[in-house]
Amino acid sequence: MADTSKLVHTWQTALQHLKDGNKRYVESMTITRNISLEQREKLESGQEPFAIIVTCSDSRVSPEIYFDQQLGHIFVIRNAGNIADSTTLGSIEFAAEYLKSPLIVVVGHSSCGAVAGAFGEDKYSENLQTIIDTIRPNIKSAKSADEAIHVNIAHVVSLIKENKIVQKMATTVVGAYYNIKSGEVLF
Ligand SMILES: [Zn+2]
Repeated sequence: MADTSKLVHTWQTALQHLKDGNKRYVESMTITRNISLEQREKLESGQEPFAIIVTCSDSRVSPEIYFDQQLGHIFVIRNAGNIADSTTLGSIEFAAEYLKSPLIVVVGHSSCGAVAGAFGEDKYSENLQTIIDTIRPNIKSAKSADEAIHVNIAHVVSLIKENKIVQKMATTVVGAYYNIKSGEVLF
């Protein structure tokens, strides 16, 4: 199969590759992943991921799988609730500036436990609470946990758009929602 990463120069093409990959996944037509020694040797000299994905750590939400992508294609940053804290932003800065990825996609998902926790009022352990406190003030307008997921995605997108390196590199930022049951990513 073609080495997609070498063919991608614009965010529009990058987005199309992700949409095409998700369509293959939803239709159970995924491409066999090339994980051969030969392929890994090829990748040893460097990477050119065509998209940066910020998504949740949820075990049901793996972007290499739902976007049907190969090793070296997408630069993935994951944490519970797909928040844009300083480590997320630092990772984005690395990929945007040094790897020249033209597109950033923030993917929230249905049944997100972290956002549901932030939508409620419970207290959590210290570090988990830090995540909850990052999400909670930004989803106040939401009337339901599912609406909170969408509000959180929009907020994280706007935060990333404010980043100086993202602006300098003119990296495009879009939000998306992954439906766990259907497997569809809605942009
Ligand atoms: Zn989640």
